[in-house]
Amino acid sequence: MTQALIQHYIGGRVVESTSGRKQDVFNPATGEASAQVVLASVEEVNAAVAAARAAAPAWADTAPLKRARVLSKFRELIEKHHDDLAAAITREHGKVFSDAKGEVIRGMEVVEFACGIPQLLKTQFTDNIGGGIDNWQLRQPLGVTAGITPFNFPFMVPMWMAPMAIATGNSFILKPSERDPSPSLMIADLFKRAGLPDGVFNVVQGDKLAVDTLLQHPDVNAVSFVGSTPIAEYIYTEGTKRKGAYPLRVQALGGAKNHMVVMPDANLDQAVDALIGAAYGSAGERCMAISVAVAVGNVADRLIEALIPRVQALKVKNGMEADAEMGPVVTAQHKAKIEGYIEEGVQGGAKLLVDGRGLKVPGHENGFFLGGTLFDHVTPEMKIYKEEIFGPVLCVVRVPDFASAVRLINAHEFGNGVALFTSDGNTAREFSRRIEVGMVGINVPIPVPMAWHSFGGWKRSLFGDAHAYGEEGIRFYTRYKSIMQRWPDSIGKGAEFTMPVAK
Ligand code: NAD
Repeated sequence: MTQALIQHYIGGRVVESTSGRKQDVFNPATGEASAQVVLASVEEVNAAVAAARAAAPAWADTAPLKRARVLSKFRELIEKHHDDLAAAITREHGKVFSDAKGEVIRGMEVVEFACGIPQLLKTQFTDNIGGGIDNWQLRQPLGVTAGITPFNFPFMVPMWMAPMAIATGNSFILKPSERDPSPSLMIADLFKRAGLPDGVFNVVQGDKLAVDTLLQHPDVNAVSFVGSTPIAEYIYTEGTKRKGAYPLRVQALGGAKNHMVVMPDANLDQAVDALIGAAYGSAGERCMAISVAVAVGNVADRLIEALIPRVQALKVKNGMEADAEMGPVVTAQHKAKIEGYIEEGVQGGAKLLVDGRGLKVPGHENGFFLGGTLFDHVTPEMKIYKEEIFGPVLCVVRVPDFASAVRLINAHEFGNGVALFTSDGNTAREFSRRIEVGMVGINVPIPVPMAWHSFGGWKRSLFGDAHAYGEEGIRFYTRYKSIMQRWPDSIGKGAEFTMPVAK
């Protein structure tokens, strides 16, 4: 059987690669290669940039209201193809279908926000700052922008970027993860059907070569990256080195190690439900997954006792099965990496209470499945505490009091998300103010901000100044310009040599 070959999308059409480079795309539930994806050559990336550059001026001149109408139609099409998009996500990523449907909705919400672009681009105007002069500002598009996205949200993360870039009048090139590239072409098709002019949205499939070419291309004005911290740091460092009339604008969102603090006064049933969903949902492959439970004081034994049977009872299956709670992890290599961490935890002295290794799912013996894994007595020096595992592994760290919990979290190199479960308002307030993390949930385990707020972590979870989407996204994709204007009747005679002041 000939396998589907997932191609580029440049200038409004699917473009066949001639790079001769490609790699397998797997269905993680069966372990079989379901397709292949092409990997771009330098010339192919350059062709995408040229198409985006050609399309940019007319799109920048298109009235924001007209851009909004295209996005509104795009939104309608996403809704119409909700199930197809979710099925493509599950097929290549492995997450359960209901979770994939949720991903589509969270991505669509950014489109809904971007539909308000006429209002969002409205700026401030001062009538008569003095001497018959008026002063106002513009937010103008940058031109060609690019987004490089991770495997774990193949629809939602591109939606954090493309609708914002396009609404603000830029053209955009998506370089999706090579592990689950199909949704990228579905997005391109829906944009086309929504009436987006050719070249405004493009897709190049590829690996490091495509990324490096985008970073170094003088016509690319902004790069948004979401992925692991080492690559985020590389993208930010390389990208901001580039010389030219305008420096490359870079936002690079990286990895995470998200803690959930459980106070002795928390409602334990609610905290356990929250931990099970947030640690094992999407097999722990979420940048906002909870991977560390911080048990404060005497809550630890009760928490562990309640968690063990819940972890053992997780329904781990093909994500298309209606009652599946957790699907496989994304690739065989990723599974082996997670298993390596579990072994490392055992060798390092943590207490393995539930071991997810060796799980076999009947009928899916070759799938990349791992069961839920639970460690107790994890300490801050252990590798399983320090590093992002990105799998269904929850580590419990025991601390004596609230102050130690805050100190522990603030000492970690990552600062993406955090949660606190408590019934005490003072503790919650103190935590929100003191914690050095970008997104905080009080009795909310996965506090992913809504589309009109902005997403991003602190410390080594984000490189660059701007968070993603929301008003920070508008600022990232536009350049600020201030304009002063007066007309001849109000212009006095003679040159002025003093600093202009209001008259
Ligand atoms: P990754 O860093 O391996 O890949 C991300 C992107 O970078 C992909 O498009 C990939 O092709 C490209 N890439 C990979 N290696 C590269 C290299 N050497 N040079 C240039 N480009 C390269 O990440 P992933 O495994 O796809 O995704 C999981 C990671 O993403 C986790 O660390 C997770 O925490 C993080 N993530 C973060 C957020 C956030 O908002 N902070 C959101 C989602 C995922």
